[in-house]
Amino acid sequence: MAGIYIHIPFCKQRCSYCDFYTRVAPRQIDDTVNAIVREMEIRADYLKREPIQTIYFGGGTPSLLTAEQFQQIFDKIYALFEVNYAAEITFEANPDDLTPVFFESIKQLPFNRISIGIQSFDDVQLKKINRLHSGDEAVAAFTSARNAGFDNISIDLIYGLPLQTKQNWEIQLNKALSLGAEHISIYGLTYEEGTPLHKLRELGRVSSADDSEMVEMYKLMFRKMEKAGYEPYEISNFAKPGLRSQHNSAYWKMIPYLGLGPSAHSFDGNSRQWNVSSIKKYNADVFTGSNFFELENLTLIDKYNEYVMVALRTKEGVNLSYIAEKFGADFCDKFMITAQKQIENKYMVVNNQHVSLTLEGILISNLLIEDFVLV
Ligand code: SF4
Repeated sequence: MAGIYIHIPFCKQRCSYCDFYTRVAPRQIDDTVNAIVREMEIRADYLKREPIQTIYFGGGTPSLLTAEQFQQIFDKIYALFEVNYAAEITFEANPDDLTPVFFESIKQLPFNRISIGIQSFDDVQLKKINRLHSGDEAVAAFTSARNAGFDNISIDLIYGLPLQTKQNWEIQLNKALSLGAEHISIYGLTYEEGTPLHKLRELGRVSSADDSEMVEMYKLMFRKMEKAGYEPYEISNFAKPGLRSQHNSAYWKMIPYLGLGPSAHSFDGNSRQWNVSSIKKYNADVFTGSNFFELENLTLIDKYNEYVMVALRTKEGVNLSYIAEKFGADFCDKFMITAQKQIENKYMVVNNQHVSLTLEGILISNLLIEDFVLV
């Protein structure tokens, strides 16, 4: 089993908080699609002919692609890989692209899941972070997706936005819940160095929510999501029963995936590689045979660290039997020495050979997880 990730590094406009590798360069989309198709040919054996269980178009803004550009990529995927008939096939989209005309144009494509970057329904907040859509447009986009037949819709929200109070956050959550999405991803706003939002904070023109406000907003959200029937299956991800993101879950289970496109990452079980973060260089090097990626072979300790760091973010937590089998009993002992203290502090629980974070543990997860990293 394996996955394919396609990175579409284009946006109509840059959001002020975003530090992903994307560019506002619509004229380069065609060349990049051609290069992605070429990369697929070059790397057709990367997944060792494993059947493809998930395909994910992320970005950037994949909804900027035309139906023909998507089709060009799908044609190559289906020609080179064995795609499971029940594969989960997702694309990320921004609300301003999701018109009925857009859905009409893509209706022949094999997508069965869409992830809409809504972030907030509050027009003032949306403006502050330089989003292109309004709250009403986000609702209209969701409705268009439903009307187009999508019965597996995910939406993204951000809490801790400039000017946001806990009361305002509750209003955003209520609106999100009223849509009835199958899956909701929720992230706390971070001020990444180098972003315009970070600069505005440095200049004193926006102020960030403090840690205690962020904790209160997370707790409010966690309780509301559970009450509304969403399973908190990962720190930032909530799903209706049976509707977890299969693609992201595969990352957390360390299942191999092929990442295509500028700045995309890949994992084959033993190494990680990442494509160059330059559209121009990627588009040229893929065709000339020059090296367009860097590669890191993972040691046993690297693999263990990666497993523990991602598994601790999930509801199921770390599987002790898996650690013993994959890495050896020594690693299990080391893990339990660190975990024991946090179990006594009630930040972690053990259940049927699995160690996971409690809600109190989630609230300080960054600090806790760091403690488990072996050097
Ligand atoms: S649309 Fe998404 S990828 Fe593009 S700048 Fe905004 S947050 Fe970043």
